[in-house]
Amino acid sequence: MSGAPAPDPGADPRTAQLSERLTAVRRRIASAAEAAGRGADLPQLIVVTKFHPAADVARLASLGITDVGENRDQEAAEKAAELSALALRWHFIGQLQTNKAKSVVRYAAAVHSVDRPQLATALAKAITVEQDRTGRDDLDCFIQVSLADDADGDRGGALPATVPELAAQLADAPGLRLAGVMAVAPLGAPPEPAFEKLAGIAAALRADFPQASGISAGMSQDLEAAIRHGATHLRIGSDILGPRPAVR
Ligand SMILES: *Cc1c(COP(=O)(O)O)cnc(C)c1O
Repeated sequence: MSGAPAPDPGADPRTAQLSERLTAVRRRIASAAEAAGRGADLPQLIVVTKFHPAADVARLASLGITDVGENRDQEAAEKAAELSALALRWHFIGQLQTNKAKSVVRYAAAVHSVDRPQLATALAKAITVEQDRTGRDDLDCFIQVSLADDADGDRGGALPATVPELAAQLADAPGLRLAGVMAVAPLGAPPEPAFEKLAGIAAALRADFPQASGISAGMSQDLEAAIRHGATHLRIGSDILGPRPAVR
């Protein structure tokens, strides 16, 4: 943020800790990009702040973070309202019910978890109303794709065969911008083949919709594999913020 005072991580132990972990993650990203021959083409880092307080998000902003991710509407809406003075981009990355679309378009710059036509319809309707009200930017929409070979490994998302139709729906909707694809690596399987599959789906999508250049993939455990397979957006939580409760 322009005009913001330079952060003084020494002043607050939590800020110092976040700063240190952020530096370590940025190093991993840079060396993975280097190893993949991507040079200066670094993916966008989205820090996933779910379960962690708004105060941590403010600390991250003071450290130069511009993009944060949340997976529950109520929690995200509260934090976004509390931190509305900060120039943050909020990314919604969780399962989304259609009746939450109206709320999400009030604060989110992007939704990474568009997985079905009914949700695309609800977001299209909600963004039109919100743009009339506030003149806000178009909403970036990533299609979440399921990469699992069976139900056991499934982490949510549209079946790959349904991606073209969902993409056409998003591309045609005023106020929505088809940004690309998103996936979470399947449970109990190595991430590498999954991200390779995602890269293939992304390439096929780009052939029809050149604007759909985004690949949102890579979390704390598998960011290197995601970068090798062309991730443009990383969603990193625990390696920066520390552990969160397993269930809630
Ligand atoms: C929680 C979450 C992340 C971050 O995961 P970490 O393992 O904490 O880095 C990324 N993507 C989605 C969809 C999530 O729900």
